[in-house]
Amino acid sequence: MGMSGLTALVTGGTAGIGRAVAVQLAREGAEVVVHGRDADRGASVVAEIETAGGSARFVRADLADSGDIKRLAQEAGDVDVLINNAGIYKFLPTSDMTEDLLDQHMSLNTKAPYLLVKALAPGMVQRGRGSIVNISTLAAAVPTKGTGMYSASKAALEQLTRIWAAEYAEHGVRVNTVAPGPTRTPGTDAMDAVTLKAVADTTAMRRIAEPEEVASAVTFLASHRASYITGTVLEVAGGRPAIG
Ligand code: NAP
Repeated sequence: MGMSGLTALVTGGTAGIGRAVAVQLAREGAEVVVHGRDADRGASVVAEIETAGGSARFVRADLADSGDIKRLAQEAGDVDVLINNAGIYKFLPTSDMTEDLLDQHMSLNTKAPYLLVKALAPGMVQRGRGSIVNISTLAAAVPTKGTGMYSASKAALEQLTRIWAAEYAEHGVRVNTVAPGPTRTPGTDAMDAVTLKAVADTTAMRRIAEPEEVASAVTFLASHRASYITGTVLEVAGGRPAIG
């Protein structure tokens, strides 16, 4: 997809969907900045990319900390492709949701992508090129019990996608979102398997996705092959079942 000479920053690139995206972008020739908090996980992704002949480096930052986000943006340098993937999902009915968890969802899923776009998009505008892909969730569009704060934090990200797309289009910067359905990752491995299977059963395909299946949509939207696509939310979620 012609990504050589481009630098891509993948947040949460140390695990799951982000890891698969980092590997695919590197395979397309991008130099990948793998972001996360866990240095061992980071080293393992960098090693996988380098063994395959690609180029990558790890930058550690806690996206719950605005100072760390600014440092990440500085250490990443001139970023051409930004993948806002890192996120948390804790499912609780509203009456059981704590204020701290509510803040964590907004901070990691909405505020961190906002601050990264604010920090990195001006450089893209200056260079006249750039692509941003945000990772949302099917639950942002489909009401799903217990996912209130998670869904709301991602729905905000989807609306920001449309606004950023309009804001940056004339400067050669595209902004899109991928909304995955249930996907097998370290994050969902830690969840109750019955819940994940129940969510998978609400898709037309009735199965859980592998992270690579989500990553290939992200890689496409990030690449020049999607040159006329901006402001879209692409569901990668096994299809919606018909009623009846
Ligand atoms: P995951 O397996 O839980 O991995 C989370 C990633 O985010 C890790 O790389 C982790 O880095 C990073 N991260 C978490 N908290 C962080 C923090 N405070 N600061 C910096 N990095 C942090 O995640 P996943 O399941 O692949 O999900 C990735 C994205 O897809 C999320 O935005 C999620 O909402 C979305 N999504 C997932 C599914 C699914 O079924 N898996 C479905 C729909 C949408 P470290 O481990 O290095 O700390």
